Amino acid sequence: MIAETIKETHFDVVIVGGRPAGASLAARLGQKGIKTLIVERATFPSGAAVSTPFIFGHTMALLDEIGANEDEYAETTPKMRRFVLEFKDYFRTFFPVGTAGGRDYMYTVNRVKFDSCLWNQLERFETVTAVPNFAVTGIIKNDQGRVSGITGRHPQQEEMTITADCVVGADGRYSTIAKEVGAEITEQRSDVDTDLFYAYWEGVADYDDQGDAVPHIHTSIDGFSYVFMPSADGQISVIAQGQSDLYQALDGSPQEVYIQLLQKQPHVWRRLKQAKQVTKLSGIRRIGNLFRQPAGPGWALTGDAYHQKDSLDAQGIYDALLMSKLLAEELTAWKQGSKDWETAMADYEARSYADLKPTFDGTMERVKREIYDIPPEFVAKNVLRWVLTSKRYQHGFSQMLIRQVDPTSLLAPPAMVKMLGAGIGTDIKRLFSSDENLNAMPAVETMPQ
Ligand SMILES: Cc1cc2nc3c(=O)[nH]c(=O)nc-3n(C[C@H](O)[C@H](O)[C@H](O)COP(=O)(O)OP(=O)(O)OC[C@H]3O[C@@H](n4cnc5c(N)ncnc54)[C@H](O)[C@@H]3O)c2cc1C
Repeated sequence: MIAETIKETHFDVVIVGGRPAGASLAARLGQKGIKTLIVERATFPSGAAVSTPFIFGHTMALLDEIGANEDEYAETTPKMRRFVLEFKDYFRTFFPVGTAGGRDYMYTVNRVKFDSCLWNQLERFETVTAVPNFAVTGIIKNDQGRVSGITGRHPQQEEMTITADCVVGADGRYSTIAKEVGAEITEQRSDVDTDLFYAYWEGVADYDDQGDAVPHIHTSIDGFSYVFMPSADGQISVIAQGQSDLYQALDGSPQEVYIQLLQKQPHVWRRLKQAKQVTKLSGIRRIGNLFRQPAGPGWALTGDAYHQKDSLDAQGIYDALLMSKLLAEELTAWKQGSKDWETAMADYEARSYADLKPTFDGTMERVKREIYDIPPEFVAKNVLRWVLTSKRYQHGFSQMLIRQVDPTSLLAPPAMVKMLGAGIGTDIKRLFSSDENLNAMPAVETMPQ
């Protein structure tokens, strides 16, 4: 149930943070009848979280498991079955969206609708008390040093103490719980940091004349990348992302820099010339790429609080839902007495890391390849094109985005040899074919309007 205030003083589990990680964990614990309190600083519908997310079928399959209603979280949001990746004006290539969870499409969900849907469905669970507008200020510990509850308050009200058998931090990348318990960063990549800013636009020109909504990714091979994400209510989120040092060296306010970046790219600006930016700029500097220690005596972390990474591969929400699924299973085993706390949390760490680590490595490699490495023109025009336009890569990449393929295998040497061979073969065929524009990107002036 959703409540305005907390009436009881003790719960089996207290969850801090009520968006994808926290709300899905609460739903799963509710399905098991575990007495759970979930508190969230915001109220719903809230202002959007800083995030403009693509979600794929594998994410929707996890949402099905907790009973989230697709018609509600994706209301007025177009289904998208292909996306396009452009490299400067050298080449472009279309990718199919891989099928998972019975869906052959993806969305750019609007976080206001999405987060409200996840939060509101907590009303269904009798053993879950969901309290918005409540900020956690600290943790309490028992005599043995085990976390045994939280302190927090509604605005302008007195601080309260709630005790619990365990406390879960689902409170995002700047987690209060992680700080309070002293969760250490166990693994970090800070050599491929990016800054990312976005706003929603109306009146954006279609990508081409096919009549469908198409996610459009434009890599300008100068340390920056741009993404058009067709979202709810006819709006398109437009991202400008770049190497942090380069981004921060640009002169002007974030809004001025954002517009300057978009205007500089003909293949981006052609779609925005007649469009209107309808939301304020949002964004993030130096997206974190890290894992924290996920659990300790009486506490656990899930979602971005535990593991965060660059949004380039659009896996953050899936990861948050997955971590919470695994944590719910381990907490249930602990509560039901089949595992002690230490074993349950060691299993949570091992199982989640095994799932998260290959994608983390794959995303770091892709950020390096597509935003950090600035290849010489010959390499970009040819080697990159041979690889990225190959059917093998396209299928593998689409499958990787729905977690059917280990990303590190995508560009492993045997696969590379085959893709390069196929690319060179196609170029040779092209020499003898009348279809001279095979794989070539149209010149700026002939781009679809
Ligand atoms: C620009 C950008 C683009 C992204 N694009 C994608 C994408 O395309 N696809 C994708 O899957 N993911 C994407 N992500 C990642 C995704 O947004 C996150 O991984 C996801 O939101 C993590 O969910 P979470 O529940 O762990 O944390 P959050 O969504 O950050 O929620 C944490 C909640 O905790 C609450 N909270 C914090 N502290 C307290 C406190 N002390 N007391 C009470 N409540 C508190 C906050 O109010 C917040 O509501 C993107 C992220 C960014 C920044």
